[in-house]
Amino acid sequence: MKTFKELRLIGPVQRALAEENYETPTPIQAQTIPAALEGRDVLGSAQTGTGKTAAFSLPILNRLGQHPRKARPNRPQVLILAPTRELAIQIEESISTYGRHLKVRRTSVFGGVSQIRQVRTLNRGVHILVATPGRLLDLMNQGHIDLADLDVFVLDEADRMLDMGFLPDLRRIISKLPEKRQSLFFSATLPPKIVELTETLLTDPVKVDVAPKARSVDQIEQRILHVDRSRKQAILQKILGEDDVDRAIVFTKTKRGANMVAEKLMRNGVRATAIHGNKSQSARQRALEAFRKRRVQVLVATDVAARGIDIDGISHVVNYDMPIEPEAYVHRIGRTGRAGAEGIALSFCTSAERRELRAIEQLIGHKVPVCPDHPQSAAGDERPPAGSRPRRGGSRPRRPGQRPQRRRDGEGRSDSPAQGPEGQNRRRRRPRRKGQRRNEGAGQTG
Ligand code: AMP
Repeated sequence: MKTFKELRLIGPVQRALAEENYETPTPIQAQTIPAALEGRDVLGSAQTGTGKTAAFSLPILNRLGQHPRKARPNRPQVLILAPTRELAIQIEESISTYGRHLKVRRTSVFGGVSQIRQVRTLNRGVHILVATPGRLLDLMNQGHIDLADLDVFVLDEADRMLDMGFLPDLRRIISKLPEKRQSLFFSATLPPKIVELTETLLTDPVKVDVAPKARSVDQIEQRILHVDRSRKQAILQKILGEDDVDRAIVFTKTKRGANMVAEKLMRNGVRATAIHGNKSQSARQRALEAFRKRRVQVLVATDVAARGIDIDGISHVVNYDMPIEPEAYVHRIGRTGRAGAEGIALSFCTSAERRELRAIEQLIGHKVPVCPDHPQSAAGDERPPAGSRPRRGGSRPRRPGQRPQRRRDGEGRSDSPAQGPEGQNRRRRRPRRKGQRRNEGAGQTG
């Protein structure tokens, strides 16, 4: 196993890594960093959780530290494209951590917020720009970003960008890149469209495949719970009350579903919050921050919103709804068991979701074992969660255990009002007593 010292990174970068207690490079880092330091293009198949952010950030910082050039207004030297605002912000944060002993100016730009501050920062000049494709193009079209000075281009989570419909934007951006540049390309999966894209973008790339699926999936203990739709919430409540659940992400199919699950959890004294695309940028940031700082134990998320969430110590991922796309299963469960830690992924499967389960099992190449601890018939699941009372907000009470009718096609449209961490504290009916363990609440469900 290589050490960071052997990777011959400059002193200030080594120092930051030591401060972060990074000792050995992860496989993607061990393979990507030397190639990138030589100036080669890289095609990395790796998903979040493998250490890929450092894999591309460290050689970039190394280069900027070794050959410093003044940051000129509106002309970044490095462009990193990411599919979501959350990921863009996280990448920028990682760069500021690893680059803290260097005089490197960086910023991130993304949609959903005013562009005024972004434009001002770009005007002052940055070395590294992290961007989502839509906002980048907007700013380029308005003349606030010129890619003529670009030395390095990074495309992160390319497959997700395609899933999100960014291919036309990507093509437009790529057409504006200078001919002479280094390109680093990362994608969890390499479907044909991605391969096509890499062919237009990369020159004789070094291919780094850290076999993320097999590895990350195998590191995670996975279980299926065959459940009735109407029991999902009660069973979730029970699971979250168990001893070993430290921090969990619960995935729902729709935004509406995310809100409802989070609200019900809160009414039962679980510190939960929802995060999805209908929330304002600041509400999403607040929710993530609350989760990161452990003010919130459970994040209820949709796939798009959860993409790129980089938070260590997530003990459990619960698929409240099965993902439609089997690849999303791998992305979802990859949120737990990060950086070698072990994690547990539990998936609720109704009879209507068996087809999704079969597709997942086909993708990962084996059957997911059924969870023996939570048989559907468990007595505790028969009764409604203790807190399923009418909402203070006045929406119509439902029968105990009854799940509301909801759109089943894609993400729900109308969401209940945003509930930042502050909102949920206000709503919480039964706060956990000081010192009360989570599992004491388990009895509430049964
Ligand atoms: P990423 O795949 O870039 O999202 O990284 C996943 C997590 O692993 C992040 O929380 C990083 O801080 C952490 N990490 C990355 N590289 C290392 C390393 N070499 N040693 C320890 N932790 C790391």
